[in-house]
Amino acid sequence: MTVFDEVAAEGHEQVLFGYDKVSGLKAIIAIHSTALGPALGGTRFFPYESEHDALVDVLRLSQGMSYKAAAAGLDLGGGKAVIIGDPREDKSERLLRAYGRIVDSLQGRYITAEDVGTTTHDLDIVRRETRWALGNSVAEGGAGDPSPITARGLFAAARAIAEFVFGNSELEGRTFAVQGVGKVGSAFVQLLIEARANVVIADAYQPTLEAAVAKFGVDTVPIDEVHTLECDFFSPCALGAVLNEETIPQLNCKAIVGSANNQLATDKDAERLHERGIVYGPDFVVNAGGLINVYDELHGYSKVRALHRVDGIYDATMRILETARDQDINPHMAAIHVAQERIRDIGDLRRFRRSGDDRN
Ligand code: NAD
Repeated sequence: MTVFDEVAAEGHEQVLFGYDKVSGLKAIIAIHSTALGPALGGTRFFPYESEHDALVDVLRLSQGMSYKAAAAGLDLGGGKAVIIGDPREDKSERLLRAYGRIVDSLQGRYITAEDVGTTTHDLDIVRRETRWALGNSVAEGGAGDPSPITARGLFAAARAIAEFVFGNSELEGRTFAVQGVGKVGSAFVQLLIEARANVVIADAYQPTLEAAVAKFGVDTVPIDEVHTLECDFFSPCALGAVLNEETIPQLNCKAIVGSANNQLATDKDAERLHERGIVYGPDFVVNAGGLINVYDELHGYSKVRALHRVDGIYDATMRILETARDQDINPHMAAIHVAQERIRDIGDLRRFRRSGDDRN
């Protein structure tokens, strides 16, 4: 496959390769779609084994961002960037500012934010070269750490799933097995405890696990058992690809709601869950709180407005579960259809020129 074949496969609009010899910057920015608005997605700084791996990743991630924004009903397209390198060794002010200049060259067609391997501090440096970088700290008038808001969105999704599965959105007395109690997982556990749900947790990092036990007084299970627990909800809040050919037959839950990105190893795994009668809250729908929060910065951040929009994840999740039921497809496919439909229908509005000067 040539580079253009790969770009064409999922209909990406543009891929930009940015290079700075002095700092060693090698960045790829992928814009999947700007049909609904500017393409927003974080910058991943990662030591990819090859440039091809980096390209495949950025194409996949940017497409996921289009779906996430569209399913959340935002006026945003999907994009993502990767910087090839080890964030602990290769990061420098020069590299980040060179990257900022490349982002700036797109004049807002792509807007960046944090992702794996980049921090708020890095984004502050990128922002010295471009205004098209979000995820400002609270001190700078931004939205700050999105994790508690992501957890709030998960909680709204869990209530919608409970309503759909059990006919009652109350989470009191429901059992949750939470895999990973980092930034999002622990904030989610806090909300569950406040709602009087029963929670069992697992985490690969002992100090994080102990801190959560001390704070919430919940029980723990080994990390290789958490997905097998008998419970109402399994909640993957750690890694991707945890729902796969091997783990799905071992699940003993009725539904899944978690923050991890790309929880399904393959699209077939959504069908495997469906066949087992386990209701899956599509990851890019239920974990959109962070994106919704950062999107709000574009309009001068208002926490009240952002929280209100994040609570809309209840309706977004319900709509997708109902679409899946009505069309007899799995919720993952239903979510993709809902997102694609919005990209097509609302994106198409641009054909209507508002004036002779309208260049959108
Ligand atoms: P984090 O690094 O703070 O937490 C992840 C936790 O998972 C850590 O405590 C880690 O020790 C634990 N972990 C790692 N491997 C594990 C395993 N095999 N079993 C059990 N625990 C394991 O990250 P986070 O910000 O809480 O994000 C969690 C997930 O949610 C990630 O996939 C992230 O991409 C996704 N996500 C986060 C946000 C956000 O707002 N932070 C938004 C959308 C999606």
